[in-house]
Amino acid sequence: MNPQEFVMVCVYILAGLLGLCVGSFLNVVIYRLPNEMSLSKPGSHCTVCNYSLKWYDNIPVLSYLFLGGKCRKCKAPISPRYMIVELLNGLLWLACAALFWKDSPAYAVAAAVVCSSLICIFFIDLEHMLIFNRFTLLVAAGGVVAIIVNGKWLEHLIGAVAGGVVFLGLYYGAIAILKKEGLGFGDVKYAAAAGLLLGWQKFILAMLLASVAAALVMIVINRVKDADKQTEYPFGPFLAVGTLVGLLAGDAIISWYIQLLLGNTIV
Ligand SMILES: [Zn+2]
Repeated sequence: MNPQEFVMVCVYILAGLLGLCVGSFLNVVIYRLPNEMSLSKPGSHCTVCNYSLKWYDNIPVLSYLFLGGKCRKCKAPISPRYMIVELLNGLLWLACAALFWKDSPAYAVAAAVVCSSLICIFFIDLEHMLIFNRFTLLVAAGGVVAIIVNGKWLEHLIGAVAGGVVFLGLYYGAIAILKKEGLGFGDVKYAAAAGLLLGWQKFILAMLLASVAAALVMIVINRVKDADKQTEYPFGPFLAVGTLVGLLAGDAIISWYIQLLLGNTIV
C-alpha cells in the first residue's frame, strides 16, 4: 500500500465512524426539533421511564444491538429508526468520501452535510409534514460549494430558478384547482435549493425519480388503505430521496443514459 492509498483508507474509516456518531446526533434533532425541545438539554433519556442514558448506552448501532432494541431499565422498545439513521448516515458519509474526496475534499464535506440534512428532512417531513428552513439552507449552501468547486454557476442557477418556478406553479395550481394546498410552501423553497445543489440536469433526474417513487407508493397505499379516506401525504421524503440519488449517482446515471441513446441511434 503506498502512502496515498493509506491516507485514503484513513479518510474512509474516519468518514464512516464520524458519520455514525453524527447519525446519533441526527436522531436527537429528528425527535426534538419538531417537538420544540432543546437539542442539548436534557441529555439522552428513555422517553418512557426517563432513564438517563450512560455513555455506553449511546454507542452508535452497537448499543442498540447489545440492548436488543430495548431500554436498559424499563425494557420499553426503542424505535429501530435510531439504528437505521445512524447506519444510513455512516454509509452516506463513507460514500461521499469515496466519491468526492479525491477531486475535492471541500465538496466531499459539503455533500456529507447535505446527506445528513436530507436524512432529517426525510424523517421529519414523514412524521410532521414540515421541512425546516435550516435544512433547506444547508442544501442550498451545498450548491454554493458545488459552484465554487466546479465553476458551472449557470447550470446551478438555472436549476434553482427552474425548481422555484415549477414548484411555485404547482403550489398555486393546486390551490386554484383543488382549493387547498397540494404542496407545502416548504417544498417550494426546498425545490429551489435542490436545483441550486444539483444543477438543472441532475435536478430533472431527481424530480423524475421523486415523482415516480411517490406515484408508486401512492398506488400501493391506495390498494392497502380505504380508497375513500382522503389523507394528506408529505412529498418531502420523496424529494429527499430523489435529491440523494441525484447527488451521489446523478452524473453516472445521466452519462449511462446518454450512452444508451447514442448507442441506439448508431445501430
Ligand atoms: Zn426506559
